[in-house]
Amino acid sequence: MNVITDALCPFCGCLCDDITVVVEDNKIIEAKHACMLGSAKILGHCRLGGNNIETHHTIKEPMTRVDKNSNFKEVSYDEAINEAAEILAKSKRPLLYGWASASCEVHKKGLLLAEELGAIIDNTASVCHGPTGLATHEKGSPSATLGQIKNRADVIVFWGCNPVQAHPRHMGRYSSFARGFFSEKGRKGRKIIVLDVRKTDTAKMADEYVEIQQGSDYLVISALRAILSGHADVVPASVGGVLKDQLVKVVETLKTAKFGAIFFGMGLTQSKSRYKNIDNAVSLTFDLNSFTKFVITPMRGHYNVTGFNQVCTWETGFTTAVDFSRGLPYYNPGETAANDVLNRNEVDAAMVIAADAAAHFPANSVRRLAKMPLVQIDPHWSATTEIANVVIPTAICGIEVEGTAYRMDGVSLRLRKMIEPTHLTDEEVLERITQRVKELRGE
Ligand code: SF4
Repeated sequence: MNVITDALCPFCGCLCDDITVVVEDNKIIEAKHACMLGSAKILGHCRLGGNNIETHHTIKEPMTRVDKNSNFKEVSYDEAINEAAEILAKSKRPLLYGWASASCEVHKKGLLLAEELGAIIDNTASVCHGPTGLATHEKGSPSATLGQIKNRADVIVFWGCNPVQAHPRHMGRYSSFARGFFSEKGRKGRKIIVLDVRKTDTAKMADEYVEIQQGSDYLVISALRAILSGHADVVPASVGGVLKDQLVKVVETLKTAKFGAIFFGMGLTQSKSRYKNIDNAVSLTFDLNSFTKFVITPMRGHYNVTGFNQVCTWETGFTTAVDFSRGLPYYNPGETAANDVLNRNEVDAAMVIAADAAAHFPANSVRRLAKMPLVQIDPHWSATTEIANVVIPTAICGIEVEGTAYRMDGVSLRLRKMIEPTHLTDEEVLERITQRVKELRGE
């Protein structure tokens, strides 16, 4: 029996780094401290079943499609990699999408392949926190590490996010309940404000719940800024379904905080006004810094969606949605994001890796993906598998392979290898596809 301490949970953007994993005969039999979501991933990876919870259907062997239905035949890695390389090398406008549940080392290989192919490379941020990146370009991001927030924050705002369901240990480790150096009273020493369109489980635990009419976030942020700057007189009696009295009360709580933190989710990034919501929320944070210390942090979903944005920015200067077809990186979300090019029917082949595009894209984009040659690289069977032509299973990053990942606050942490892999790694598969593409092109 082998006990691994201080392992990272490779599931959500909290990237909890206190997991103790018990391994027996190359099987994980216990994952202490992980929440239900994290445990399900860490324990459910097992291809053999046993005592582990089989939450995900893992793919045993590489496969290629034999008919229009979801019937596949098992093939060797060589055959699958060769077919994937042929699909991509023949394509005039390939799309490489996904990357959220893979390490930064995998992202680097993916960018090299995209450059070689002249492809468009995009990650899952383009359907979640992409607008956060756009707003950060325009306004910057007055932020802090989760450690600073844990140790100092006495007022916490959750806007359009529901950590109780999506990031189950966030409130205990970093925010509402966490006890820190200057916050030894934990929850008793903090005020929690939740702004959302419905009373979520997180809202039920708040000191102040502000129910906003759907699509009114921008108006409510603007009203808070007007009140904060001493212009409450221009704010009407009700804004976005919220009474002015409640907005005044919220502003009073925010400006009298010793250290405040705003966490926001897709309720803000993907609702009406999208990146302008974040732009305005960042401005509100700047305004609050005239009175006290305030920071703002996105609640990133997949454990390393932030990492792709980091690596892509080092390598290309842009966070995601990068088009290499001109021979140099070009970026213009709204034109070069995955759903933009799929909507315009520009793409003639695609590779989806470490994500499930078919489960999360609009129906029109999924229809387009289903009609073109599609390569999937992933340890798990998903909706994308059902429409893929070539399926290449890989070892699970953060469980079977070590690597680097970025937490939601931009802190990089090292994923630990818990057990020996039984499949090729994403890095190996990408390297071999890139090599084969070069051969096919006579380079
Ligand atoms: S909160 Fe997220 S990172 Fe932490 S254990 Fe749960 S799923 Fe894993």
